[in-house]
Amino acid sequence: MGGSTGSAGAGGLELTRYEGFPSNLLDVAAPDLWQHIPGPSLFDIPGRNPEPLFVSVLLHGNEDTGWTAIQEILKKHGANPLPRRMLLFVGNIEAAKANVRTLDTQADYNRSWPGTRYPEAREAALIRHVVEVVAAEKPFASIDIHNNTGNNPHYACLNVLDERFLHLARLFSRTVVYFTRPVGVQSAAMAKVCPAVTVECGVPGSPSATEHAAEFVEAALALDHFPEHPVPEQDVDLLRTAVILRVPPDASFSYGDQDADFRFIAELDRLNFSELEPGTKLGELGNAGDRRLAVIPGGEMDADVEGYIEYDNGGIYLARPAIPAMLTLDPRAVRLDCLGYLMHRIDRQGRPVE
Ligand SMILES: [Zn+2]
Repeated sequence: MGGSTGSAGAGGLELTRYEGFPSNLLDVAAPDLWQHIPGPSLFDIPGRNPEPLFVSVLLHGNEDTGWTAIQEILKKHGANPLPRRMLLFVGNIEAAKANVRTLDTQADYNRSWPGTRYPEAREAALIRHVVEVVAAEKPFASIDIHNNTGNNPHYACLNVLDERFLHLARLFSRTVVYFTRPVGVQSAAMAKVCPAVTVECGVPGSPSATEHAAEFVEAALALDHFPEHPVPEQDVDLLRTAVILRVPPDASFSYGDQDADFRFIAELDRLNFSELEPGTKLGELGNAGDRRLAVIPGGEMDADVEGYIEYDNGGIYLARPAIPAMLTLDPRAVRLDCLGYLMHRIDRQGRPVE
C-alpha cells in the first residue's frame, strides 16, 4: 500500500512523505534503506483510531531495533489495519548506510529537535518541519526507539514527570530514567505536544530487543486512553540523571592495561544500573596523571557536580553513592557522546530518595 506524496524542502535536507507504508520496505535492512527511499521519511500508516501514535526510528543510523520492530508489526498485521494510526519517522538513513550513529558531516539527529543548541544546522531545519507536521495531527503519544553500547538493561526515558508519561514508559519497562540533558532530544521536544518517551533497547541487532520494542509499540497502539490513576509506586524504578561523565577531547583513554591519560577498568560497563558505593574504582590515571574527567550537570538542579569523582594515589573513584548508566567500552561512543551517566533514585516530585 501507499506511495510518496512528495518532498518538502527543509534547509537543504528533504523530508519525503508517504501515505501508507510501501510493502517492499518490509524486508529491507536499515543499511540498505538508501536504495529504496530518498532520505529521511515520514510514513502516515492508517489505523482504526485516527489519533496517531508518533514513532521515530533510526535517529541514530546504527541503532536498528526500532526499524526491525516496525517491520515486525506491519508484517504481522498484513492487510489488517493497525488499531491506531501511526506516523513513522525514519531518520538518518545516510548514517544507517555507513552503519554509524551520525556521519562526521552531520548534526546528530537526536540532538537536533527543538531546544537544540544547534538550531542553524540543516538537520534541525528538517526536524522542525517534522515536528510541525506531526504536531498538526495532534498525536496521542510519541515513542523514540534507540539502542546503546555497553551492558544496559532495557529502560525507558522521559523528560517530564507526568503520570501519562509514566504510564507510557511503564508499558516498556519498570526502569524509567528522567533526564533534562542533553538537550535537543526527540522526547523532550515531543513532550510539549503529547506524552513522550525514549526507549533504550540494549545493543543493536538483537532479535529479543526487536520483539520487546514491537510488543511495546503494539501496546501503545492498542491503548485507548491513558489511565486516570497514577502508576503505583511499586511498579516503577524511577531514576534521575545527576551528571554526565566525559573524557576531555584531547585526553587519551584505554580499557585495561594500555597506558593512556585515563585507564578505565576492563569491564566498566558491568557497573551499569547497579547501586555503587563511594570508593568504587572506575580506573587509573596514566601518563602524567594530571588529567581529570569532565563532570557535567545532568539537570538544572544539580550544581554540585564536583563531588562525584575523586582521585587518590593514581586511582579514579566514585566519591558519592550513585547508579551508573550507559558506561561504555566503545571508544567512538565516548568521543561522540559521553563515557556514561551517574543517576540517583527519585520520587515522583524528582526528589532524591535514599
Ligand atoms: Zn541513539
